[in-house]
Amino acid sequence: MPVSRHPHAPGDIVTPDRDIPHAHFRPGDQVVILKGTSGSELWGDAYKVVTPSWHTPTDEDGWRLYDPVGGARTYITAHPRYLVHLSSRCPDCLIYQQALRSYLVPRLADAGEDVDCGWYSLTHLNQVVHVADARGGQ
Ligand SMILES: [Zn+2]
Repeated sequence: MPVSRHPHAPGDIVTPDRDIPHAHFRPGDQVVILKGTSGSELWGDAYKVVTPSWHTPTDEDGWRLYDPVGGARTYITAHPRYLVHLSSRCPDCLIYQQALRSYLVPRLADAGEDVDCGWYSLTHLNQVVHVADARGGQ
């Protein structure tokens, strides 16, 4: 399925308010960064948590992630609040996921294709940054 940037994709009001401690994640965890919708489900990119790493866009503790299909960008760094455990047994991540789904899916229900909301970008230092955390003209 093609992934398109939706011209009227809603801004993310859920992720910036998420309060999740750095220690919620551990090396070896399988995680996903949710970036949009695919029909009635959320869509995102999957990674493996590797090691603690400073997240320079927020000046806070982040995690280095391994991207199996990342090519030249196999390793990227992200803030904990961007991450969701793939395991369905994590209640904290499930709450966030459900909040994001109930916010986003109805707003993009008529998109008819996979939608990338464009909330995340990658800096030249391979740091993932959410639009709400971007500053300095990124
Ligand atoms: Zn979790």
